[in-house]
Amino acid sequence: MKEMLMYINNQWKESTSGKFIDVMDPADQSVYGKIPQGSKEDVDKAVEAARKAFESEEWKKVKPHERGYLLNKIAHRIREEKESLAMMETQDVGKPLTQAKADVEAAARYFEFYGGVADKILGETIPIEDGILDFTVREPVGVTAHIVPWNYPIQIISRSVAAAIATGNTAVVKSAEDTPATAYRLAQFFDETDLLPGVFNLVTGYGKEAGASLAGHPDINHVTFTGSVPTGISVMKAAAENVVPVTLELGGKSPNIVFADCDQEKAIQGVVKAIIQNAGQTCSAGSRLLIDRTVKDEFLEKVTNAFQELQVGPGKDDVDIGPILSKSQFEKIIAYLKLADKDGEILTGGRQLDIGGYDRGYYIAPTIIDGLDHNHPAAQEEIFGPVLTVFEFEGEDEALRLANDTEYGLVTGVWTENIGKAHRIADRIRSGQVFINNYGAGGGIQMPFGGFKKSGFGREKGLEALKNYTTVKNVAIKYR
Ligand code: NAD
Repeated sequence: MKEMLMYINNQWKESTSGKFIDVMDPADQSVYGKIPQGSKEDVDKAVEAARKAFESEEWKKVKPHERGYLLNKIAHRIREEKESLAMMETQDVGKPLTQAKADVEAAARYFEFYGGVADKILGETIPIEDGILDFTVREPVGVTAHIVPWNYPIQIISRSVAAAIATGNTAVVKSAEDTPATAYRLAQFFDETDLLPGVFNLVTGYGKEAGASLAGHPDINHVTFTGSVPTGISVMKAAAENVVPVTLELGGKSPNIVFADCDQEKAIQGVVKAIIQNAGQTCSAGSRLLIDRTVKDEFLEKVTNAFQELQVGPGKDDVDIGPILSKSQFEKIIAYLKLADKDGEILTGGRQLDIGGYDRGYYIAPTIIDGLDHNHPAAQEEIFGPVLTVFEFEGEDEALRLANDTEYGLVTGVWTENIGKAHRIADRIRSGQVFINNYGAGGGIQMPFGGFKKSGFGREKGLEALKNYTTVKNVAIKYR
């Protein structure tokens, strides 16, 4: 049994209540570890430590490039342990090893990217009038809170914590109760450095208890929340009570728009990969296929064949699709499949799979659903499983209308060889990222990521994320 602890003020802690939460391996739902059930008292201590560190002269004296070194040290440790970190992520989340390795690589790159940025956070000089020098400084916001979902733990912690520390903030992370292992290992990496106490803190526990206490804490200065829309709304309300800004990275129902003039082989690969990654348990999963009516039958037949060749099994066997995280996530997916079966046509999949030796794990055959009305819940809501819903269109206008016709707006894929068409779609689509003839661009550490509409607001990744963690001060000096 692996016992993981919280990290507060450079000390390893159990929760004040002494209670623990079991952690399961989705491959067979066996309990392999436990984490402290952090409470409000624990969050208070973590925020107090982060505040003390932020206000300290010692932290102010750490030069920007020294913060960069620190982040690069973490990147270095991630790379040194990339194999075991990937195994950990696979055991926690269930995802196939190759995908876990890509997540670990992305995590290292976030620390390197923001480590490199730490001493390049510049202000401006602004012309006012003769005799006045006006300039801006970008200052850290203070104590930053990071509330993380279960599906991409190491990547999501790394992307926001690296940006926050690079810009001179201190951080309190609330890891996901289902998938805490790589967060714990990252805390150990921080502990190996000569980091000042309180700069990085890790609290574990349930969302309604530890998460809510952190989001509503009066002494934090920013919340980065990544998770579902309903929780995002609660977090935003809690932060609003203290007039604390939030960055919300929420869900999606992202379309791949496939035009008749596309390179079909590339489009098929892109469409399949976009939905099966992490068994479809991905915010930016390409969960809707919008296909040009004139090539629908031919294209769909090829996608169906590709789906039927996919291997499903435990992530450690490095299959294409791993297990679903938990019983509750599985039951949610099955409910959508039943509804879709009643109201549409399941072309392939649509059922649970028994995987020999992993009877207690929840595995779902990759599924394609056709014939639904676009208002159907399976077309509008996040299913969070390996389930692709298909809709046909005629012409760019209808493609756009369908693509924009959900409450979400995270990512869009466009497949066409016509550059003008690709630009017209990119111009009118309501989503934070648009990929033309690719989907995901290999993770895109440098590119801003975030949502339109209920997919959230604010941007993570790239230089854009620095805006979350800095605030602008204007100084005007009259010298004549
Ligand atoms: P979730 O909203 O249930 O939980 C996310 C985190 O919030 C967890 O750490 C949880 O403990 C905590 N939490 C729960 N209730 C809380 C509360 N009242 N106050 C504060 N914190 C609380 O989401 P999940 O099921 O872990 O993750 C899946 C969701 O995350 C999906 O909707 C997915 O699309 C989204 N997601 C978005 C992105 C992105 O970058 N846009 C990335 C990954 C996942």
